[in-house]
Amino acid sequence: PPLYKQRYEFVKDLVRKYKPKKVADLGCADCTLLWMLKFCSCIEVLAGLDICAAVMKEKMHRLTPLPADYLEPSERSLTVTLHQGSVAHKDPCMLGFDLVTCIELIEHLQDSELEKFPEVVFGFMAPSMVVISTPNSEFNTLLPGVTVFRHPDHKFEWDRAQFQSWAQDTAQRYDYSVEFTGVGNPPTGMEDVGFCTQIGVFVKKYPQTREPVLCEKPTEAAYKTVSILLF
Ligand code: SAM
Repeated sequence: PPLYKQRYEFVKDLVRKYKPKKVADLGCADCTLLWMLKFCSCIEVLAGLDICAAVMKEKMHRLTPLPADYLEPSERSLTVTLHQGSVAHKDPCMLGFDLVTCIELIEHLQDSELEKFPEVVFGFMAPSMVVISTPNSEFNTLLPGVTVFRHPDHKFEWDRAQFQSWAQDTAQRYDYSVEFTGVGNPPTGMEDVGFCTQIGVFVKKYPQTREPVLCEKPTEAAYKTVSILLF
C-alpha cells in the first residue's frame, strides 16, 4: 500500500490497541485520517485542526453522518469537530484528548511554530498519547528525483538522530516516554537507512487521575470552528 495509507493504518492499529475515546488530528488536511477513524467504535470525539480551512472543507462531506447512521443507531455517539488554526496556539477545545496525532505535520512548521509546538501539544493539550510522524531524510537517497526535500513546502527533513534527539528532549521536558518506529521498509540490503517515514509514539508518564478542569488553564479561543457533526 502507498506510504500515506501505511501511516494511517499505523494510527488505526494504535487506536484498536489502546481504545482512546477522544482523538485529535493536528494538520488534518483533507480529513482522510479522521474519516478512517470514524469507523473505530471506541471513539466518541474526533477533532481536526488545520491552518488551512479550504483543504479541510474539500472532502469534508465524507464525514457527515450517513442515513444508515440514523437507521441503525449505534450505542455510542460520535462528535466530529473541525477547527481552523495553528498548532502554535493554545485553544481550550483541544483539552481532554486521549490521543493526539501529528502525521507529516512538523516538517511544515516554521522555526517559530516548531518552537511553540511542544508547549502547545505536550504542555497544554497534554494527552495520554501523542504520535508524530515525519520523513526520515536518510531514506532520501533511495527516492528518485529527490534532491533537497521530498516536498517544496518542507521547512526541514530530519535524519533519525535529529528527530530522536528533538523527541527525547521534548519527552523529557513534559514527562513523556517515547519509542521510535516507522513505516515504509527500505529495500533488502539497504536496511541501514531505516524507515521511509519515522514515527515517535509518546506516552504520558503520570496520567492524570481526574478529568482536566478547564479553569485550571484559562485560555481564550484561538481557533475558528469550521464544522461540528453529530452522529
Ligand atoms: N496529516 C495529513 C496527512 O498525513 O495526510 C496532512 C499532512 S500535510 C503534508 C500538512 C498539513 O499541515 C497541511 O494540511 C497544512 O495546511 C497543515 N499545517 C501546516 N502548518 C500548520 C500549522 N501551523 N498548524 C496547523 N496545521 C498546519
